[in-house]
Amino acid sequence: MPWIDKDICTGCGTCIEECPVDTIYIKDEAAEIDMENCIHCGLCHDACPENAVRHDSEKIPERVEANISKTKKFMMDCEKYLNDAQEKEKCLKRMIRYFKSEKLIAERTLEELESIKLQFD
Ligand code: SF4
Ligand code: SF4
Repeated sequence: MPWIDKDICTGCGTCIEECPVDTIYIKDEAAEIDMENCIHCGLCHDACPENAVRHDSEKIPERVEANISKTKKFMMDCEKYLNDAQEKEKCLKRMIRYFKSEKLIAERTLEELESIKLQFD
């Protein structure tokens, strides 16, 4: 999924003109993508003169860190609201199960997409 590096974006508007579904807009003098409507065509990547439209893979460390922070917060909240220190560990186990199921969903989705791709090769 594309995202805009706001530190690099000059707000020139070139990507807005290129986007076929009008899902890029200017906010606080930089471009922003409404991902609800993005069709992942990649035109904004190619059009940006500043290389400010970045790839999702660059956010992997940031997203991992966010998942860990979120899990730690849930663990603390479980202990606090359920008033039981053991709830912390139970919460951690639930979050591990959750991320395992997310991994499985991603793996199965990739298998299906690879089989669709074979039809185009
Ligand atoms: S990938 Fe395509 S649809 Fe998505 S924001 Fe860029 S130009 Fe628009
Ligand atoms: S083309 Fe690049 S620099 Fe211009 S508004 Fe879009 S993201 Fe920003």
